[in-house]
Amino acid sequence: MIKKVDHIGIAVKSLENALPFYTEVLSLPLLKIEVVESQKVKVAFLQAGETKLELLEPVSEESTIAKFIEKRGEGIHHVALGVNSIEERIMELKEKGIRMIDESPRLGAGGAHIAFMHPKSSSGVLYELCEKKGLKG
Ligand code: ZN
Repeated sequence: MIKKVDHIGIAVKSLENALPFYTEVLSLPLLKIEVVESQKVKVAFLQAGETKLELLEPVSEESTIAKFIEKRGEGIHHVALGVNSIEERIMELKEKGIRMIDESPRLGAGGAHIAFMHPKSSSGVLYELCEKKGLKG
């Protein structure tokens, strides 16, 4: 069902302040920076071997990332699992009694189809299912 850990989402107050650690200290290639309007975040993707790191900076106080940082501070926000046929995976999870935040997929960064599981179902870890339909990476 799960192909790999696609990326790890990390909440930061400022991409500008956070990025040098990744690009200069860890020397990770910066793949792209984009604003995801639907989630009110600006994201930066870095390649870390097979997996990517997704830095998320809130662009509005309404953003769930802004609320996350306010409550818990900066840090790991979610783990994204790469899947195929995301609609079927959501169905399977629901059949297994997993509560979904997103009952149907929505568009995430880079045009990926994503759906979040409710962390109550997974010992406090926020998992994202992520399908790159016809997208590379
Ligand atoms: Zn993500």
